[in-house]
Amino acid sequence: AKHVQNNIQMTEVTMSTSKHDAFWMPFTANRQFKAEPRLMVSAEGMYYQTEDGRNVLDGTAGLWCVNAGHGRKRISEAVAKQIQQLDFAPTFQMGHPLPFELAERLVKHTPDGLNRVFFTNSGSESADTSLKIAIAYHKAKGNHGKTRLIGREKGYHGTNFGGISVGGLGNNRKSFGSLLTGVDHLKHAWKPGSEFTKGLPEDGAEMADELLDMIALHGAETIAAVIVEPIVGSGGVFMPPQGYLKRLRQITEQHDILLIFDEVITGFGRVGEAFASNRMGVTPDIMNTAKGLTNGAIPMGAVFLQDFIYDAFMQGPEEIIELFHGYTYSGHPVAAAAGLATLDIYEEENLFQKALQLESYWQESLHKLREHGVVKDIRNYGLVGAIELHSSEKFGERGYKIFNHCYWKQNALVRCTGDTIAMSPPLILEESHIDELMNALSKSLSNAL
Ligand code: PLP
Repeated sequence: AKHVQNNIQMTEVTMSTSKHDAFWMPFTANRQFKAEPRLMVSAEGMYYQTEDGRNVLDGTAGLWCVNAGHGRKRISEAVAKQIQQLDFAPTFQMGHPLPFELAERLVKHTPDGLNRVFFTNSGSESADTSLKIAIAYHKAKGNHGKTRLIGREKGYHGTNFGGISVGGLGNNRKSFGSLLTGVDHLKHAWKPGSEFTKGLPEDGAEMADELLDMIALHGAETIAAVIVEPIVGSGGVFMPPQGYLKRLRQITEQHDILLIFDEVITGFGRVGEAFASNRMGVTPDIMNTAKGLTNGAIPMGAVFLQDFIYDAFMQGPEEIIELFHGYTYSGHPVAAAAGLATLDIYEEENLFQKALQLESYWQESLHKLREHGVVKDIRNYGLVGAIELHSSEKFGERGYKIFNHCYWKQNALVRCTGDTIAMSPPLILEESHIDELMNALSKSLSNAL
């Protein structure tokens, strides 16, 4: 009876008392949010509509994903049509036409050689897929010892075990046990003295040479891959020093180490070309994407692989499954339909080029905020922007205050990561939206702290 009573007591304690209690929100201070929920109920173009009836300018493309702007009928109609025609079909030992078509269309935009596509459902799954394929590739080539993975401090590669193991954000790792073994981290590639650089810092390419030290320490014969974000996103929005990624490319190539770029946020036009790899002129062996692939409308990710990697798996007997990996929803028909419609929009509206055209206006507007004394640094590239604030005693407090003030008082959505305000607007924006966003930020910087 006591047991039952305990159960009843337990139930009473944990039962929802408000309509917001049941949903355990990801990466959110749940109790703080639920005390004053920021709820958006619809969206169109550059704006969200909030539950309390305001229009809020989207300065973040949702979460770096709604690159073509909100409410795109072309996508919703394609999704509706597809779900009626073929809601689901497996891609394990079966197939349907759409992911084949989407893959062919996508590789027209990727840098040379990245012609093979493995579909996932998120950036986190793309990260773990890329790491597994990297290790399996070396094994397929007979290099069984090449299993070590190298990530980087401040790196973010989603939240699955592989991604947090190579990731370099302490908060995302430290509650979750011992993680993957055989992982090392390069130093974060940003140098003090680079503050207020417009575009990529000139100084710091040599920081890539730390990889040579790791090779000396562990032996190249033990290292499978190096994974980095071309632009660090969640870790605070840091641009790579000029030449840094090229140097990583040279070293990895010399030592038969695969180079993985996580382009989950930099992909699909964010930096003014299809991918940061295109614009920065460095081609990785594996490139991870998600988010902008479907304009955020339906979950989907894609890992792009060099032909030579795919070919290495295609050597054995034809009846043998070459890679024991995949997801029920890899290449899901509805997600693929969303992806195709999204690509139509990007291509027809030249949105990647549009981002490039707007870059200098974006840059100059952003850097005007330097006049606020609390601003410690401003960083930008493509349509990415970051304003780092001098921290108060409590790290992250000022960032949160600006974000919250922008949302409630200035009708603008920005993101905060620690005391850095991150921005990544939809690529459809006009100069007037940039003015509106900067004006909102300026007022928050004056009034919120
Ligand atoms: N990789 C990078 C660089 C990201 O910024 C993110 C998400 O922000 C991810 C991976 C994880 O993507 P998802 O949240 O879709 O799993």
